[in-house]
Amino acid sequence: MIHISELFSSIQGEGLLAGRRQIFVRLTECNLDCCYCDTEFGRTEIGRVESRPGSADLINIPQPMPLHAITDIIAEWQALLPGAHHSVSFTGGEPLLYADLLARLFPDIRRIIPIHLETNGTMHLALGQVKRHLDYISMDMKLPSTAGCTGQLWDLHALFLREAQGCNVSVKVVVGDVTEQHEIFKVCEIIARINIDTPLFLQPLTLPDGTIGIKAAHLLHLQELASGRLPDVRVIPQMHKLLGAL
Ligand code: SF4
Repeated sequence: MIHISELFSSIQGEGLLAGRRQIFVRLTECNLDCCYCDTEFGRTEIGRVESRPGSADLINIPQPMPLHAITDIIAEWQALLPGAHHSVSFTGGEPLLYADLLARLFPDIRRIIPIHLETNGTMHLALGQVKRHLDYISMDMKLPSTAGCTGQLWDLHALFLREAQGCNVSVKVVVGDVTEQHEIFKVCEIIARINIDTPLFLQPLTLPDGTIGIKAAHLLHLQELASGRLPDVRVIPQMHKLLGAL
């Protein structure tokens, strides 16, 4: 049995798979407490599942739910909309809090559709339990300037990125007007030390009122700093928010 908060179909709005349609499985709970967090991930007795993929009509499902129920929904949606979905994205909260359960769930799902893990990149031991089942890993590196309350997580991020080698891994950092150049240098140093070809996505901070929390000139400055140290640096805002999608 596993607690989910949401299961729905939408367009991936971030990182390497931005623009791909995915089935999203949002799990509850997180080990961090980022300032900019916009996700309801507290564990409740009710999860919300789209009645039909893409309808935005969410129905309440008692939690926790059996692992096979998640596989069954994904199989049903694949049969209903053949070819529409590129992959299934496990997100949170922090999905790796459930690594034991995911190690049992992922093999069945992967027979149906590729698996993408969205993670805050701090739980390398848990990643080791599931990484052989993953097709894509999108890991965050949390900048003290924008994530704030998480403190310094550099060592954990480095351990995580090293553990993720062999998977299709990319790194995302949320940048704002408050982001300082030494933070970008640190991110680049970690990536260059482990695998310099790892794609790095600079994601402009989205403020609570929906506006972008970084001026274009500062964003371009940070992009220049990173691009001088890594070969694959891209800037992508959260596209699903522009679309008004789930
Ligand atoms: S890691 Fe993600 S889900 Fe967890 S607090 Fe930070 S932004 Fe929210």
